[in-house]
Amino acid sequence: MCGIVAYSGAREACEVLLGGLKKLEYRGYDSSGLAIQSPDGASINLARSVGKLRELELKLSESPLEGSTGIGHTRWATHGRPSEVNAHPHLEGSVAVVHNGIIENYLALREELKAGGAIFKSETDTEILAHLINRDLKITGDLLKAVTGAVSHVKGSYALAA
Ligand code: GLU
Repeated sequence: MCGIVAYSGAREACEVLLGGLKKLEYRGYDSSGLAIQSPDGASINLARSVGKLRELELKLSESPLEGSTGIGHTRWATHGRPSEVNAHPHLEGSVAVVHNGIIENYLALREELKAGGAIFKSETDTEILAHLINRDLKITGDLLKAVTGAVSHVKGSYALAA
C-alpha cells in the first residue's frame, strides 16, 4: 500500500511533501518520489529514488527542488519492478501523476496510446494515466476535465494526484 501526498500553498512544497510521506511510511514502500512545479510555472521537476525516504532526501539535498506546488509518492510496486524509472511521479508533457492501486485495463490502453504515437518510459500501469491526462489537457486546457476524462477510460481501484 503506497502513500500519496499533494501540496499547493505558500510554503516550499518539498519539505511539506517529505513530511507527509514520512507520516505514511508505516504503510510500507519500495521507492519514493516528488514532482514540484518550478516557481515560474514553466516546468515540473522530478526527484525519485529506490529504497528508503532517506535516499530521496539525500538526492534532494544535493539537487533541491524549489516551488510551492507538488505531489509525492511512496510506491509499493504491482506492475514493474522497484526501480527509479518505475518510481512515481510519472511525467508526460505538462502532467505529473502519482497513483495508488491497479489499472486493470492498462495493457489495452497502453497499446491504444502507443498506436497514437505515445512513447512509454516505465513498465508501470500508472504511466498510462500521465499520457491520458496529458492528451486530454492539450485538448481542453482544464486539468480537472482532463483527469475526469482520463479516468473514464480506466478500470480498477485506485487513487491518484496529478
Ligand atoms: N500499480 C502502481 C505501480 O506499480 C502503483 C502501486 C502502488 O499503489 O504503490 O507503480
